[in-house]
Amino acid sequence: MGYGAPAGGYPQGGAPPQGPPFPSGAYPQGGPPPQDGGYPQAGPIQGAGPPAGNYQGGPPPGGAYPQGGPPHQDGGYPQGGPPQGAGPPAGNYQGGPPPGAQGQPQMPPQGAVGDPTAQPVPASAPSIDKMDKVDGYGNIGFESGGMLAPPAFDDALKGPPPERTDISNVPTITEQDARDALLQFVAEHCCYGKKAAQDMTFRDLQSTSAFHYTLETFAEGRQTCWAYEPFKGQTIDGPFNGLAPGPWDIQMQPTAMFQNSKMEMEVPHTASVKPCHGCMAMGRIQCKNCHGRGRVHCDTCHGSGRVSVYRDGDHHHEHCTWCHGEGRRHCHTCHGDGMVTCHTCKGCSQLKCYIKLTVLWNNHVIDHIVERTALPDHLIRSVTGQIAFEESQLRVWPINHFPDAEINNASQRLVNQHSTAFPSERILMQRHNVRIIPVTQAIYTWKEKQSNFFVYGFENQVHAPDYPQTCCCGCVLI
Ligand SMILES: [Zn+2]
Ligand SMILES: [Zn+2]
Ligand SMILES: [Zn+2]
Repeated sequence: MGYGAPAGGYPQGGAPPQGPPFPSGAYPQGGPPPQDGGYPQAGPIQGAGPPAGNYQGGPPPGGAYPQGGPPHQDGGYPQGGPPQGAGPPAGNYQGGPPPGAQGQPQMPPQGAVGDPTAQPVPASAPSIDKMDKVDGYGNIGFESGGMLAPPAFDDALKGPPPERTDISNVPTITEQDARDALLQFVAEHCCYGKKAAQDMTFRDLQSTSAFHYTLETFAEGRQTCWAYEPFKGQTIDGPFNGLAPGPWDIQMQPTAMFQNSKMEMEVPHTASVKPCHGCMAMGRIQCKNCHGRGRVHCDTCHGSGRVSVYRDGDHHHEHCTWCHGEGRRHCHTCHGDGMVTCHTCKGCSQLKCYIKLTVLWNNHVIDHIVERTALPDHLIRSVTGQIAFEESQLRVWPINHFPDAEINNASQRLVNQHSTAFPSERILMQRHNVRIIPVTQAIYTWKEKQSNFFVYGFENQVHAPDYPQTCCCGCVLI
């Protein structure tokens, strides 16, 4: 190892280091879990919680509403009103009469004219206290409370550092290649003159190599939250079917490795049927457009029942033809009923509530470019080169055999960085590679002035910011 192992590197064939760089003990339940990512049944999941202080444990399973039972007379929200994080209270009953009560309908507020597009305010979430208690799923709300702590990675899975072969060099280009590339570059710029490219005299071609190291960490994150949908008689997989599997016990396969994707599923054995919170299990709610009255102000006559008409040189008051002089007209939202179908349960009166597991697969990419000419480094990313080295493992070892020490150091640094960068995700696979990209600096003279340009990548891309003939016909480049 003429270039030396990077600081903290591992000798070839030596034992993997203890402890870092990969986190151990990240999982609070103690001890490495089984390799299948098993999750102990007991105990709440750390970091999975909703806003602190919200969830008080709730009633035990079975203490919830009887199926199809009548709504609570007190408005359905014991102690403290609607659930936290449940959106604006406008759409909830605040203890008032249930929809459809014919007591004393309130007059619409001034200016509440009929708006056929108006929709009732959507209902918020059910009370969290009414949700069943599910072992392994404490402290979850209706909105995702963040990522779950993943199982720890067993360093033994990582295996010993791999055998690695020497890295070969890349081909260089000729003067003709450089001129052809420049002519192609000129042809792609409509205003550039090609005479300079044709007639320039090459003084030197300096071939170098840029190195591009890329590390990808493919990781999985999981979230759980309560979800609900209208209950239309679909099968309910509830606690009576068994214990719910832990969030990391559920096997989920990404559709493709090293690609971002997302999948949602119902956690088995967590479903139950609850009365709809949006309509107090009535299936219908008061129409917000007419406040349950079935009629709204006429917006043609502004409720007066009369309109002013100019005829025969004079103003006349006439009956409004839209509302027949009544000042009010039919509410189009509820068709005069005063009630509309509950949007939460779609009129079913009941909801199927269950725990939803969301799996997010993230591909984290980080890279480092070594390029020692005046060519802007970022250009190296967009061209192809020779893949000098490529490796894919559960956890990669930093490379230490590349002829350029800066790449070895970058690998060490980036692998270490990724090992702790995603504490809420389980790393499924890592891969890294080094590409060698040819870069040639062509130094030339044209009309007794010396300048240079770059040819880079297997595509022979050209970077020529100083090309002398950027305008062949007197136009001005903007
Ligand atoms: Zn009218
Ligand atoms: Zn209405
Ligand atoms: Zn409903």
